[in-house]
Amino acid sequence: MHPLKEKIALITGASSGIGRSMAYQLAMRGCELILIARRKEKLQEVRLEILKDYPLTVVHLLVYDVNDPNLYIELKKNWSKIDILINNAGLALGRDKFEATNFDEQMQVLSTNITASFKMVHTYLPGMLERESGDIINLCSVAGHLTYQGGAIYCASKHAVSAFTKSVREETAGRNVRVMQISPGMVETEFSKVRFHGDQKAADAVYSNMNPITPDDIARMMVFMLEQPRHVTIDEIITMATDQGAPTYVVRRNS
Ligand code: NAP
Repeated sequence: MHPLKEKIALITGASSGIGRSMAYQLAMRGCELILIARRKEKLQEVRLEILKDYPLTVVHLLVYDVNDPNLYIELKKNWSKIDILINNAGLALGRDKFEATNFDEQMQVLSTNITASFKMVHTYLPGMLERESGDIINLCSVAGHLTYQGGAIYCASKHAVSAFTKSVREETAGRNVRVMQISPGMVETEFSKVRFHGDQKAADAVYSNMNPITPDDIARMMVFMLEQPRHVTIDEIITMATDQGAPTYVVRRNS
């Protein structure tokens, strides 16, 4: 039997991009899915897409903001046992230098990327440790390792994710719970559209004349991490598009 078959996987931020691809990849391998995001219609689309190809998949949709305390009450009450946590919901807002940012707006980045992400682990780690079984993949970023101008808050948030993952990884060693992270460079998703407050032209420019990573590429890498035998933990995958040499250095075909 495939190692992921019949596992229960919870994915935050499953309505688009990396989370959406991961939902499909895990459905393909026989997982039961709990998908969380704010946009109900997008989550329903994801469920339809999965059921079209894998009609036997059990897909639960939880329409919530990960910052909503009621989500955690519901998770503890109705969804307390999971095997896999894909801790993915996250965002950046703007490319302004720090002094020009709207600080209140940036709080949304910090609370989503840090507080909610850590809270999700706090919700599920005790049960995993008790059962001595479970896998967690936190979505970090190359911005969790390097910094760039116009990314102070986003880079800080992903540095926090990285430090958190490594600490918890160390704390949980020997308990058959794998705490891992993946740190991508440029992946073409809704990330840039969100970052530029809905400006599709600005988002398209980010990926113009280069080949970005696709969300499916990242999902397949995460599946690779999960498919390792239990005695192997891939602490982290750091990956960038071949056209991206560093977070802000991209080789474009026509430039
Ligand atoms: P995306 O296409 O914008 O997807 C983000 C997902 O997070 C969406 O499903 C969104 O759903 C959800 N989300 C955002 N805020 C939320 C909230 N408060 N509550 C619930 N769900 C929320 O972007 P993506 O590229 O797939 O990003 C996924 C993760 O990868 C993020 O953590 C991001 O930082 C990381 N990452 C992305 C890249 C990249 O280049 N794209 C690179 C490195 C790391 P709703 O809007 O429906 O709530």
